[in-house]
Amino acid sequence: MLSSMDEKIVPIYQEVLARNPGEVEFHQAVREVLESLGPVLVKNPEFAEHKIIERICEPERQIIFRVPWVDTHGTTQINRGFRVEFNSALGPYKGGLRFHPSVYLGIIKFLGFEQIFKNSLTGLPIGGGKGGSDFDPKGKTDGEIMRFCQSFMTELYRHIGEHTDVPAGDIGVGGREIGFMFGQYKRITNRWEAGVLTGKGLNWGGSLARKEATGYGAAFFVDEMLKARKDSFEGKTCIVSGSGNVSIYTMEKIQQLGGKVVACSDSNGYVYDEKGINLELVQQLKEIERRRIKDYINYRKQAKYVPKGNIWEIPCQVAMPSATQNEINGKDAALLVKNGCIAVGEGANMPTTPEGVHIFLDAAIAYAPGKAANAGGVATSALEMQQNATRDSWDFDETEKRLHKIMKNIHRDCFEMAEKYGAPGNYVVGANIAGFIKIARAMLA
Ligand code: GLU
Repeated sequence: MLSSMDEKIVPIYQEVLARNPGEVEFHQAVREVLESLGPVLVKNPEFAEHKIIERICEPERQIIFRVPWVDTHGTTQINRGFRVEFNSALGPYKGGLRFHPSVYLGIIKFLGFEQIFKNSLTGLPIGGGKGGSDFDPKGKTDGEIMRFCQSFMTELYRHIGEHTDVPAGDIGVGGREIGFMFGQYKRITNRWEAGVLTGKGLNWGGSLARKEATGYGAAFFVDEMLKARKDSFEGKTCIVSGSGNVSIYTMEKIQQLGGKVVACSDSNGYVYDEKGINLELVQQLKEIERRRIKDYINYRKQAKYVPKGNIWEIPCQVAMPSATQNEINGKDAALLVKNGCIAVGEGANMPTTPEGVHIFLDAAIAYAPGKAANAGGVATSALEMQQNATRDSWDFDETEKRLHKIMKNIHRDCFEMAEKYGAPGNYVVGANIAGFIKIARAMLA
């Protein structure tokens, strides 16, 4: 894959590999962006002269801390907490917190790196950052989650603030966790500082449509790609992996736009429902009862559950991976294309391996990388910050209208940038270059 990287950029990438040993997800995210930037340096030699790419690849600050907490048996547990403050050229660091046992520095750095370009694409004044912990929320009681979140914030509070760094949710962190952390921040600092976290509850500073935003935004983006090809969601068979927040609201918007979602999943397996996924049931199971997706078939007799199955084997026209990184490999991508898939929109961050991405690009299907397609979540976080700053709250329609406009603008910017750089229809090139140029100019300035 290095062959597609400009020869001036290869040594920069090699330096990243040498400096960050073993952080394979971070290497992957960096490589994917750097492969697009060769032509940008030709048009803008000042970026090379001032080492903008080298600077962007090194986080401004990385914080690693101990998170001790006491479980229900009275036993002390220890986890590791992270916050990587990657780039503040465009605004305060902004990005979610991920609580998942797979978390280590390399995962947080890949997510933080992606976040820089994603946040730039939104056109809103937010820099890039990410954080989290190797804590596993699965099977924990409410009390354990609360004590963990409070302990996590007992260290994190000194690094964040409305003008400094504004965390939000990601995998394993939703409204409940943001509530526990906001409460602890308020208690320690004696500040009711709404703008310090986003994804808050609606009666304490949260924004309408934030919960729906990542999924709705991803569906809007795919809708724009389809429109650019004189097509639409109408009557399309769709697959949306995952069954968390991103997946649920992607499915909802696809259904509103006339598509039919036939499968979704969790980390144990997938459900297939030929009549179309019943969203209310998924929401009841996952959002309210916190159960597994396999219970879906107890309520919908025609549906089938495939434990450990590969959801990408189901033929579809639109695929929206919305679970986690590297969930579509080269084989899956080839199978999707062979089975007639015409559009892929990434609700998750980096869900397709580099081999998979190249297969989608070679097949010239409409492929939207996560940093463009799932930017609606963080964009609406920035809208939440705007409402907090003016002590205002907008209604749902107003917020969704703004989200829709932002997604249309991101699509247009990626589309036009790809054309300008001689790669028409290539949203990877479009997103990387459009995101990069704005940050590079700000850093130079
Ligand atoms: N975790 C989300 C993302 O990957 C949202 C971040 C935010 O709202 O700050 O973009």
